[in-house]
Amino acid sequence: MYQSLVADTRFHRLLLTLDQDCAGACRNSRCPVCGGVLHAAHFARKPRGMPSGATEYDRRRFSFCCAEPECRKRTTPPSLRFLGRKVYLATVVTVVSALQRGSLTAQRQLAARLGISPRTVVRWRRWWREIFTSGPFWTQAAAAFMPPVDRAGLPASLLDRFGDPDADAPDHRLRLLLRFLAPITGGCRPGHVF
Ligand SMILES: [Zn+2]
Repeated sequence: MYQSLVADTRFHRLLLTLDQDCAGACRNSRCPVCGGVLHAAHFARKPRGMPSGATEYDRRRFSFCCAEPECRKRTTPPSLRFLGRKVYLATVVTVVSALQRGSLTAQRQLAARLGISPRTVVRWRRWWREIFTSGPFWTQAAAAFMPPVDRAGLPASLLDRFGDPDADAPDHRLRLLLRFLAPITGGCRPGHVF
């Protein structure tokens, strides 16, 4: 059940580990503007929808800053936990939105349990279908799926394309989807670990 992953501390920690790996690769890259050395400049997010027992470290957004005083350009690596500026975790935004297709009752119940307003759910739905699909990432990535992903069914229709529904557990499939989406959450170069 994808719903259970929202409260699954183990799953969140796994995503954190993947974010750490990506941050490690980013640390070894150079400033995209001036080529300067990058210094750690992590910051605290205050995401909603965290599993119980989450610590300050779980909320940390890995980020780096150019060491050159004249530049100071910030570089923030991709993340599987944070979907851009969305206040709720990527897992929450994706799972709640994906339930739109399966069970509206389950979606409403999960949203209510997490304190997500119906208006926010509508906004997320619009984000998947209009803003995400019109961005440069999806414009390129969509071409790799054949047959094409049903835009109206996002993100459930995209989740369908990752892993084997008969053989792979939901956590594995959701992790693959979040990894796929990670480039829209940040970037550093060279060499993403994904
Ligand atoms: Zn720089």
